[in-house]
Amino acid sequence: MASPDWAYDGKNGPEHWSKLYPIADGNNQSPIDIKPSEAKYDASLKPISVSYNPDTAKEIINVGHSFHVNFEDSDNRSVLKGGPLIENYRLYQFHFHWGSTNDCGSEHTVDGIKYAGELHIVHWNAAKYASIAEALSKADGLAIIAVLMKVDQANPKLQKVLDALSAVKTKGKRAPFTNFDPSILLPSSLDYWTYPGSLTHPPLYESITWMVCKEHISVSSEQLAQFRSVLSNVEGENAVPILNNHRRPQPLKGRTVRASFL
Ligand SMILES: [Zn+2]
Repeated sequence: MASPDWAYDGKNGPEHWSKLYPIADGNNQSPIDIKPSEAKYDASLKPISVSYNPDTAKEIINVGHSFHVNFEDSDNRSVLKGGPLIENYRLYQFHFHWGSTNDCGSEHTVDGIKYAGELHIVHWNAAKYASIAEALSKADGLAIIAVLMKVDQANPKLQKVLDALSAVKTKGKRAPFTNFDPSILLPSSLDYWTYPGSLTHPPLYESITWMVCKEHISVSSEQLAQFRSVLSNVEGENAVPILNNHRRPQPLKGRTVRASFL
């Protein structure tokens, strides 16, 4: 497997991404620091509505900088609608971001406050595009629900994911991951902030309608340690744990963050 031309540290780290991916300095980059006092309440925003069929859960894959849980997306069995969206968006994948210590790890921050981790549930606009590959670079192509994770009690909802990690320890490994509805990971309130942004790592396409939940979920120190035990190397190489996979907040550049709540 070829090594990627970007990383979260070193000579291919985030400060260098713009050399190969000039959009890194674009006007709609993510993540951002959300300032609740500057967010604009928009009464026209609808509630987030998710309908996920657990049968669409497919597999878990170690991608070297993280692990992804992928879903069957050939039909509309698992969809996200409402929020700021016009069309239905089809569930594709979820993944997490974390840090080397418990005081960092989230990508979005709130009033400058970093959380220990962040869940991203990724969907694509199947009403308008034929595949995620086609949607990936389009302004209305993707929609991501982001949930901040705060160090607290162990979160039992994460257990099935954490239990699967031993099967995908090294880069390129994949294992079946079935019968799972990721809406169990969401907080009880789906109040959200929304803004137009980007993928948070290369290719950094500015194609994401972000919905960042106001309410966080919990994760324990031990559970975070399990995330950090996933390795970035292929099997047989020296063990290099994935300790950091979060990008720092990017300039807002005039964008408005809207709130679904007062
Ligand atoms: Zn992400």
